[in-house]
Amino acid sequence: MAGDLLTCQVCSKPGIRLPEGARLSATVTCEACGAEKRTDVYISTAEQLRRAGAAALQNRANMEAARRDGVRCKNCNATIALPADISTPQFPCSHCGAMQLTQSFVAPELMGLGLRENMRALIDEQRARSKRLGIIIAIVVTAIAAAILVGVMFSRP
Ligand SMILES: [Zn+2]
Ligand SMILES: [Zn+2]
Repeated sequence: MAGDLLTCQVCSKPGIRLPEGARLSATVTCEACGAEKRTDVYISTAEQLRRAGAAALQNRANMEAARRDGVRCKNCNATIALPADISTPQFPCSHCGAMQLTQSFVAPELMGLGLRENMRALIDEQRARSKRLGIIIAIVVTAIAAAILVGVMFSRP
């Protein structure tokens, strides 16, 4: 809900106001204690996945429109075609020859760049989850080992 204050992870007071559509890599400052954290700390994995999916769809739609309709040269404003291979970092305007950055028309994700930035939050979450799983496995293994040890001790003649 917009306007609702979330609980600060530092001072535990409701001092975190997330702007609508806050970027995951942006930071948010607690209104109660002034602590600054990345916004993804306060956005659930499910919401992060939903946003990543929505952004990917939007990026793709934008790119398809740019491919279909062309883009505007930043220098002469002529309508020019995107390069066939959009992983090309830059390409010349077919009218004035000015170099255009592909990134200014196509989402870096679609160019094969910037994936790391978007995926990092999800990878961190996965890592935290597997760490928890590791602890559970360690406890289970210890319990089994203890049970075997106890069994061996009691089975002694
Ligand atoms: Zn705080
Ligand atoms: Zn041009």
